[in-house]
Amino acid sequence: MTVNQHALGTTAEPTVDVDAVIIGAGFSGLYMLHRLRNTMGLTGRVFEAGGGVGGTWYWNRYPGARSDSDSYVYGFTFDEDLWREWEWSERYPEQHEIRAYLEHVAQRFDLYRDITFDTRITGASFDEARNTWAVTTDAGETVSARYLVTAVGALSSSNTPPFKNIDSFQGETYHTGLWPHEEVDFTGKRVGVIGTGASAVQAIPLIAKEASDLTVFQRTANYVIPANNGPPGVVVKKARLDDYAGIRERIQRSYFGFELNLLEKGALESTDEEIHQELMPRWEEGGFGIWLGSYVDMFFNDEANAKVRKFLHDRIREKVDDPETAELLIPKGYPFGVKRNPLDSGYFETFNEPHVHLVDVKSNPIAEITPTGVTLEDEDGSEYGFDAIVYATGFDAMTGPMNKIAIRGRGGQLLREKWDEGPRTYLGLTSAGFPNLFTITGPQSPSVLSNMPVSIEQHVDLVVKIIGEVRERGAETVEATREAEDAWVVHNAELVKPTLFETADTWYMGANIPGKPRVFMPNLSFVGPYRAKCDEVVANDYEGFTFGTSKQEATA
Ligand code: NAP
Repeated sequence: MTVNQHALGTTAEPTVDVDAVIIGAGFSGLYMLHRLRNTMGLTGRVFEAGGGVGGTWYWNRYPGARSDSDSYVYGFTFDEDLWREWEWSERYPEQHEIRAYLEHVAQRFDLYRDITFDTRITGASFDEARNTWAVTTDAGETVSARYLVTAVGALSSSNTPPFKNIDSFQGETYHTGLWPHEEVDFTGKRVGVIGTGASAVQAIPLIAKEASDLTVFQRTANYVIPANNGPPGVVVKKARLDDYAGIRERIQRSYFGFELNLLEKGALESTDEEIHQELMPRWEEGGFGIWLGSYVDMFFNDEANAKVRKFLHDRIREKVDDPETAELLIPKGYPFGVKRNPLDSGYFETFNEPHVHLVDVKSNPIAEITPTGVTLEDEDGSEYGFDAIVYATGFDAMTGPMNKIAIRGRGGQLLREKWDEGPRTYLGLTSAGFPNLFTITGPQSPSVLSNMPVSIEQHVDLVVKIIGEVRERGAETVEATREAEDAWVVHNAELVKPTLFETADTWYMGANIPGKPRVFMPNLSFVGPYRAKCDEVVANDYEGFTFGTSKQEATA
């Protein structure tokens, strides 16, 4: 156990085991530990449920798993040497490589010695008498800390729908978000994949290469854009290396954490031919250009959106040979861009293979899982027989990982009960009544609507500033005020109101989990303006926060 008396202004009895407990050893947890320990001189201990660093990249080992962010911006930028020295082999970094990168980061900054692996945090309670957190693990340990930082990721709580008789299946079962560490070989097997989100879109082309027969159960078709993956060109790589500061500055001020800009002219003001001319190069270039670097009015106006949809529908028809299958693969009933846009490498073409079948489970839902396969509601018991079923059914996103932990704030209030009708935060980073608790890229911050490492660095740097301020003031706690939180919740609702985001059943809305409140969870300020807002809060003497000590409860 480590003790930091100086940091807490104590003289005799140590009051805490560590200054901060950090939950999770992905991008967020690693950078948080580095900043706390290596730049602030505080003590920190990271608890990680997995057996190694990586967070989402530790668990998501399914075939084809890779980031959809361009690799040159998918990493830390706080250390120029680290950024320069790490060489990504492809445009989109593959899961093994991201994990290797994070292992390298952990070694380079000597982080391993403060990480406890294979240990899950089960609860955390704020002790109001001592202004400390008591954090409990599934190994039976209780650790006390002044600060609690959740670095749990937005997409780390996997979701398997409660299909009837799900446990009866006698073959192999996998979930994309909890993939085994051992090699999975589908060679010669009949495989069923349930789901067609970003994970399935990446996995399906590779599973199809091995399986003797592949059936994909689709409930909602997705707008899938080509990734256009490959090794980055030598000239491009050199130009980027020469522009570290420029790239860093641009992604930090951007809308989404990428070097992408929205067009000034709207789709509504453009002819179909102009739209084609704008979108076609982006389609060929691959990546998020059509989504996050084209027409801003498509996020607000369905007519504008329909023009972009038409372009995308035509591309799907070009790729899929069988017109009936193409029609099924064409998304319907919701606007483009309000659901996370997957990137693919050969997804649509896979459905041209004779051994690959697409089954619509919107019109005919899955009835049950049987010992040997899957049956649908209106097929009189006829069964799709499988040797393996892959659940690519996503996550209880954003609030799910936090709600799994019994986090109790002032008066013993449970955070998950406070968030019963949707998350309530100030800046997506703190919640009133939960002093000294910070949620890195939490709900109501830009988070999943951004290139995550950019948002993670910003949030961690902000936490460091706030903790520095607590110490500077000789205080023990920092906490969002109810007024600031109420205003932020209202602000988030107002931001999304004029957009089309609430019109679709997405995990952004919690709509993929039965019973979950239907609330749009990410913040729509966007990366650059959100950063500016946080900087303004700091400049305005930490507006919206109160600082307290055990004797003197709150001083603004
Ligand atoms: P997802 O997007 O939530 O997709 C889950 C799929 O399962 C959907 O097609 C969903 O259909 C289907 N499903 C859920 N319950 C079902 C049921 N009862 N019956 C039939 N189908 C059902 O999950 P994901 O693909 O794992 O992706 C989640 C997020 O993780 C992505 O949006 C992305 O942000 C991130 N991700 C990123 C990458 C990357 O960067 N490369 C890769 C993978 C994932 P409905 O659409 O009808 O609900």
